[in-house]
Amino acid sequence: MMTIREYKRVESLEEAWELNQKKANRVIGGMIWLKMSRGNVGTAIDISGLGLDQIEETEDAFEIGAMVTLRQLEEHPGLAAYTDGAMRESVRHIVGVQLRNLATVGGSIYGRFGFSDVLTMFLAMDTEVELYKAGRMPLVEFAKQIGGRDILVKLIVHKDKAVYHYQSVRNTQTDFPVLTCAAAKRADGAYRFSIGARPGRAVLFEASAETIQALIEEKQKAETKADADADTRENQDKAQTGKKAACLAKWIRDQVQTSSNMRGSAEYRKHLTGVLIKRAVRVLEEC
Ligand SMILES: Cc1cc2nc3c(=O)[nH]c(=O)nc-3n(C[C@H](O)[C@H](O)[C@H](O)COP(=O)(O)OP(=O)(O)OC[C@H]3O[C@@H](n4cnc5c(N)ncnc54)[C@H](O)[C@@H]3O)c2cc1C
Repeated sequence: MMTIREYKRVESLEEAWELNQKKANRVIGGMIWLKMSRGNVGTAIDISGLGLDQIEETEDAFEIGAMVTLRQLEEHPGLAAYTDGAMRESVRHIVGVQLRNLATVGGSIYGRFGFSDVLTMFLAMDTEVELYKAGRMPLVEFAKQIGGRDILVKLIVHKDKAVYHYQSVRNTQTDFPVLTCAAAKRADGAYRFSIGARPGRAVLFEASAETIQALIEEKQKAETKADADADTRENQDKAQTGKKAACLAKWIRDQVQTSSNMRGSAEYRKHLTGVLIKRAVRVLEEC
């Protein structure tokens, strides 16, 4: 059980930051994860009065406050439209509505949990984090860091001309994921894939249109010209998508580092990575 000695609902980010410099103190988001930990907390720093519970959409970006809940992400029409439903899909398996009404974006991203659907989804987008003292940095950089005593203020998702797809594999509907995969296809043909629950933290793979073309050409060299001539146009289009999916799946499967835990082995996770990448590419090529 966790014991909290004092509670402070702060009135400014500066006050929150100052209190948070003391090792014994903790910022609280939804407190859903924190409450499961053991030990003593000096002061619980409540930032819920700082107006960080809003999602603001502009022409170019979404600004998502640290105290926005996962349920707000799930229900936001702008995010649903921009991500082709992927944002909603990324959070809808997280336990239940009651939990998603409490768990926050700040807690999810600052925690940098290996199993995080939330981190997986935001990594596939052009996302920056805004920290009170350190300022803005790409999420992909922040996700590699460990610990720290800054305050996460908000996420900024820059709108890209892209289409999105999200998948997770779970042994049962609301369990922690065995593997997560968020994919983005940009208008210039480049792909971004974020693979999480490896079971380590989500990692990002980016393939430019040129890289993809090179992978496909390498694969084509292995096929005979007669095979290609005999094929109908429709089959060739399907075959092209299939080749792209297979090439990207192999490319990422070869690079991604997985390991084993009670939910699945390293080998199984590698295999799933290939399967989810292929599925994502097939869906996104249709868009
Ligand atoms: C039973 C259970 C099952 C779950 N299953 C899943 C799942 O399948 N997929 C998934 O993605 N997630 C899952 N989660 C995690 C959940 O989605 C949240 O990520 C988690 O609860 C953290 O959010 P919180 O708001 O509760 O943060 P808290 O528990 O309040 O905080 C978490 C950490 O972040 C720090 N923190 C919080 N806010 C800030 C801030 N603004 N600035 C700096 N530091 C901050 C806290 O000090 C703490 O160290 C699960 C959680 C539980 C309890």
